[in-house]
Amino acid sequence: MQTKATVLIIEDEENIADFIATSLKAQEYKAVSTRLGKEGLALAASLCPDLILLDLGLPDLDGMEVIRKVREWSGMPIIVLSARNQEKEKVEALDLGADDYITKPVGSPELMARIRTALRHGAASGQTKAENVFITGGLQLDFGKRAVRVNGEEVHLTQVEYKIVAFLAANAGRVVTYDAIISHVWGPYMDDNNRILRVNMANIRRKLEQNPAEPRYIHTEIGVGYRMAEEE
Ligand code: CA
Repeated sequence: MQTKATVLIIEDEENIADFIATSLKAQEYKAVSTRLGKEGLALAASLCPDLILLDLGLPDLDGMEVIRKVREWSGMPIIVLSARNQEKEKVEALDLGADDYITKPVGSPELMARIRTALRHGAASGQTKAENVFITGGLQLDFGKRAVRVNGEEVHLTQVEYKIVAFLAANAGRVVTYDAIISHVWGPYMDDNNRILRVNMANIRRKLEQNPAEPRYIHTEIGVGYRMAEEE
């Protein structure tokens, strides 16, 4: 049997850390836990885990500091474990280089899905994408031709709309912050007011989604950003 990935859990709430470790081991991942940020940093360097699950409120270090330190030397995927209603914290973590976040309390299927996505991105980073087409459900995006189809029908997007959709598709399964989208599409000097992004998103959803109020392809992460559905 193939060895599964090693996951480092940095979380001081013992019941949460135990629950996550048990869920991971049930899926044959290797799990290593610590309740301290400093020990987490040491383990990140010595174990070179495939993924870090990181609580932001640690007894010795701010979790943000852990992200910053790891990012000085490694692009290993980091998923932040965050409390509900902490949108600012989630945005800050993502902007520092975290790959995703999971809102506590953590459910096992959600956790495993996010871990698989982050590991896939981790393994794919640094490689050129072999296939040039993104497909999820009835949505198809051809990066080479810059063509978007929904249920086989070509959809006409403006230049800006296409850039937004392509950026989200390239990061499918992961939340992308408003600021990250704005600076990717309009450049770093654009005002970080996200009204223009919301207007574009409303137009995109009208074109792509059967029911724009209940999107299937591009999901809103309230107060944080957008998430394209995972590729199929
Ligand atoms: Ca904590």
